[in-house]
Amino acid sequence: MKEVKIEKCPFCGGENFIETKVNSYGSSYLRPLKKKGLRSATLFATVCTDCGSVVRTYVRSPQKLLPKKER
Ligand SMILES: [Zn+2]
Repeated sequence: MKEVKIEKCPFCGGENFIETKVNSYGSSYLRPLKKKGLRSATLFATVCTDCGSVVRTYVRSPQKLLPKKER
């Protein structure tokens, strides 16, 4: 997976970020709509500590969302 480096908040220009894990009782997972099964990935978010904007939301292992044969 490519590494993404965020240097500046696109909303306020701030340069301070915190990595968070989206936590909301079972809906904090992404699941492919068209695929059957229980594949899911936890959602993480990068938050600007200067203005509170969620600058990026992402999963750490996107391959998990693909069917086994496409990984
Ligand atoms: Zn900001």
